[in-house]
Amino acid sequence: MNSAKAYAAQSPTSPLTPLTIPRRAPTESDVQIEILYCGICHSDVHSARNEWSAFMATSYPIVPGHEIVGRVTHVGSAVKGYRVGDLAAVGCLVDSDRTCTHCQAGNEQFCPNMVFTFNAPDSHLGGMTYGGYSQSIVVDQRFVLRVPQNLSLAGVAPLLCAGITTYSPLRHHKVGKGQRVGIVGLGGLGHMGVKFAHAFGAHVTVITTSARKKEDAHRLGADAVILSSQPDEMARHAGTFDFLLDTVSADHDINALLGLLKPDGHLTLVGAPAKPLEVASFSLLMGRRTLSGSIIGGLPETQEMLDFCGQHGITADVEVVPIQSVNEAYERLLRADVKYRFVIDLSTLR
Ligand code: NAP
Ligand code: ZN
Repeated sequence: MNSAKAYAAQSPTSPLTPLTIPRRAPTESDVQIEILYCGICHSDVHSARNEWSAFMATSYPIVPGHEIVGRVTHVGSAVKGYRVGDLAAVGCLVDSDRTCTHCQAGNEQFCPNMVFTFNAPDSHLGGMTYGGYSQSIVVDQRFVLRVPQNLSLAGVAPLLCAGITTYSPLRHHKVGKGQRVGIVGLGGLGHMGVKFAHAFGAHVTVITTSARKKEDAHRLGADAVILSSQPDEMARHAGTFDFLLDTVSADHDINALLGLLKPDGHLTLVGAPAKPLEVASFSLLMGRRTLSGSIIGGLPETQEMLDFCGQHGITADVEVVPIQSVNEAYERLLRADVKYRFVIDLSTLR
């Protein structure tokens, strides 16, 4: 067994502080990665503070982080496709049963036995898995991804969660040319949703609570912006959208958003507020509208997304921070004060 420096929360109310964690000695099919950058996803905050206790309670200590890029430092004898010195990435999953129909179809995110990168039972060491706010990680080769060579590494890290979580539903619902698409919430997920929907050829509108983000929305690829706090603006756009992707992290009025959809329009939730949303039946009955959800993506689609980003020069807009600033970054994230993803430079932990 090896050990690694990390940052962990010890309780829902304590700040993240340094902790030394165990990492397994690599098996023959494992890839050992020195972590260079790790994004800060809002899910890290929900989990560190045990806000999802009703669905997946947090075990402490928790080391968050599932937007990981780094360099390979060791490969097991059975590893194919990765060599020491290669760039490599790890997202939200580090294992699954690999035998169920979902795994066989490359939809590991639906596997009943999937293992999240942090806060999931660790079958190798016992205890729970520890995420990317750390120096290194050891992952089976099936759950390691190739990083396009032409992209900035810090900007790649958020693709591993914010990227795939928005890419997957936009692809699944065949968003493209001729469609009016709304991205709700311009944060880490939302700004990637704008970039992808724009790249897929849709007419893209950002629906935001932050008037100050208007200019950025256009720069990121939006054709229009709606301020959701303005009832007259919302009313003017009622019944005009084919598809909405809701990335909002906190309680909000989903009925007001559903009212923006055309007949047969579709809203997919990827945001995961702790408090259940209240959906009025009539918001769906009127216009035969559909409401759905989506969670990350499988390994093949995550690789497809990374390759797409390499071909189209897409990365996240990031603010790189030292690990010592992680608690301040959490507070700013909660105030929607980040353009548009914090990424930890793990060299500051060494
Ligand atoms: P984020 O960077 O904090 O962005 C969330 C955005 O939501 C904010 O920037 C803000 O955008 C908007 N917002 C915040 N509070 C709001 C409120 N009270 N009312 C209306 N809008 C509000 O978070 P993120 O990392 O993108 O994550 C977003 C959510 O997705 C989180 O709940 C996270 O846990 C979840 N998530 C889900 C998956 C999945 O697989 N489904 C994966 C990753 C994350 P504006 O300033 O533009 O209004
Ligand atoms: Zn995430």
